[in-house]
Amino acid sequence: MIFRRLRAVVLIIVLILIFFNVFQRFSLLKRGFISSNKVIIIDPGHGGKDSGTISVSGYYEKDINLEISKKLYKKLISMDYKVILTRKTDEFVDNNHRAEIANENKARVFISIHGNAMENNNSINGIQVLYYPNRKNNINDLLAQIMLDELVKGTGAADKGIIGREDLIVLNQTKMPAIIVEYGFLSNENEEKLLLTDSYQDKVVDSIVNGLEYYFSLNLEN
Ligand SMILES: [Zn+2]
Repeated sequence: MIFRRLRAVVLIIVLILIFFNVFQRFSLLKRGFISSNKVIIIDPGHGGKDSGTISVSGYYEKDINLEISKKLYKKLISMDYKVILTRKTDEFVDNNHRAEIANENKARVFISIHGNAMENNNSINGIQVLYYPNRKNNINDLLAQIMLDELVKGTGAADKGIIGREDLIVLNQTKMPAIIVEYGFLSNENEEKLLLTDSYQDKVVDSIVNGLEYYFSLNLEN
């Protein structure tokens, strides 16, 4: 009788040990992939002699791109991601070189940050995400759609869709999933005003971080 009870206790202990072992392995695996040491590239569009578009009230796109990119960089670093900015100051960086930086570092994803503009129609506003359309397994358009959904949800901006672009160097020369976030229209007075505030820039940044985390959680790489 005592022997049988002892056997039951041992069995329970063994089961508990197995359960914790499996559980621990699972959480280690999960942690291992989240803190993957592969780098995220943040690419502030334009810079130096290339100002990008000029906003309604005269601000340069290149400066707003850099502000948002630096905030995004800081946030991702604080979350223990490895991140590289393709420029940290107001300098000209060739688009081919931006792609090279990403390829040489075998980056996990490439996120380019740009402002939009529409000549002759200052009522257009909203967010677009551009991607390279013809890459195997269509991860690019999935990443673009995830990012757009998070940005629209997080900022309340209009959904201007994801757009396949084969002609853009930073998209067609990069070897990893790559997108361009067009965070809003600087040709639209309201959107420009919002984009010049810290609180709206933070919403853009938080949305991109949420998009990245969701994309990473799908574990589609390799
Ligand atoms: Zn631009």
